[in-house]
Amino acid sequence: MSGITPTEEELKNKASSLRELNPTLGINKLLLQLKLDEPNWIVSEKRFKKYITPSINTTSTNLNDDNNEIDELIAKTGIDNSIEISKIAPKVKVKMFNLNGKGKGLIAKEKLQKGELLWHEEPWIGTSDPSLWPFLEDNDMCTSCLTLFQQKNQPLSIKCKFCKQINFCNRLCYKKSIEENSTHNDFLCIEQNSNSKSILNFIKQKKSRDLQGVIRIISKWRKEREFGDLNKSIEIQNRIWNSMARINQKLKEEERKEWPFIAKDRMEEWRLTHLLILNALNPSPKDEGYKSFQKFLNSKKRNESKPITKEEEERWFSFESFLELLGLIGLNQESSGGLYILHSHLNHSCDPNLQVRNLPKNWIAPNELPAELPPPMTTQNRGTNRISIIVKKEIIHKGEELTISYVDQRLSRNERRIKLREQYGFWCFCQRCIKEKKEEDKEKEKEKLNDN
Ligand SMILES: [Zn+2]
Ligand SMILES: [Zn+2]
Ligand SMILES: [Zn+2]
Repeated sequence: MSGITPTEEELKNKASSLRELNPTLGINKLLLQLKLDEPNWIVSEKRFKKYITPSINTTSTNLNDDNNEIDELIAKTGIDNSIEISKIAPKVKVKMFNLNGKGKGLIAKEKLQKGELLWHEEPWIGTSDPSLWPFLEDNDMCTSCLTLFQQKNQPLSIKCKFCKQINFCNRLCYKKSIEENSTHNDFLCIEQNSNSKSILNFIKQKKSRDLQGVIRIISKWRKEREFGDLNKSIEIQNRIWNSMARINQKLKEEERKEWPFIAKDRMEEWRLTHLLILNALNPSPKDEGYKSFQKFLNSKKRNESKPITKEEEERWFSFESFLELLGLIGLNQESSGGLYILHSHLNHSCDPNLQVRNLPKNWIAPNELPAELPPPMTTQNRGTNRISIIVKKEIIHKGEELTISYVDQRLSRNERRIKLREQYGFWCFCQRCIKEKKEEDKEKEKEKLNDN
């Protein structure tokens, strides 16, 4: 990537016109706008700040320490009307906050007590941690629910009838894998769609769980569109593009200090990955794999299914959409098993009132409350990818927001802040962060006094 360094004069003029057009935007967003307007310019944040005047209407709750901004890389998000929340979690409801970059969240419909199970959930897009991949390949684990087998070729367990390489606990898990969580989608079975070989090998080599998520999302949509239920494919399209929180992966990574050094390699890798995805899931007539892909489609296609439209192509297969999907995975993926519909509504707190657990199938929820939280898991009683959402605080009052922690709670305030900003695009202003900030300030004051 070649770049030019603008002169002081050029930068000054650009900065003042940007501010004029966007009087309320914070510096980080203006800097992003600058990058979009002048993609070849090399401008450091520090240099840009010299020329930019503060925004109007900034809030007075200024916690603008460590030279960080209040400004957020705001994730796009919306309400998903296809979810029947009252059926999954009767004591919970969705709320749109629309406040300081905060979108939707969940709140308690009534008083909740410690130890209470709010809901169980299985992933609607399954992904697995690369540390589990050897087990999956060696026929020691179910690809669909991630249950560890007692023995190889366990009774009732079956393999994919096409490629004979993928293992499942039983028929039900096999069915779920194809029809629900997309863990062994027809488009990603190498015996059915041989075009998928390259991207699957690439993911294996890169150990990239996020990419695994991206291709499972796209192929889930495409599978419903071509040989499944058309209404379902529309539901998936709405969920991904109008409801789940997402940030373009490139915008997110550009904020990192090391970005100027890694930008070239990252862009190249993304371009290559994008091509591999196209080749597997939507090759063009010019591509080598076009014929074999068409053959695969025609062998399963519903008669009435039409070729992909220009809009669909742009929506699902453009380079920008790929970066958006990658960003979406980064924001929503739960480490124990992928994307969960209701779980992905939960906002972060460094002192959360809920706990996400990955308990064994035979775990029974307590019937008397309050109750102790379930004990930590050992490798012997490893759970499946079904998650259980449990109340962690003594009491959660009606109307209170429900939260989980996106990062390790043992980290220091600063470490948490940086992680949350880098991965999720926001600065945390939860009660714990505010309290710890005050304590740190007090310490600093003391040190100053001692120095004098
Ligand atoms: Zn297969
Ligand atoms: Zn299973
Ligand atoms: Zn916090």
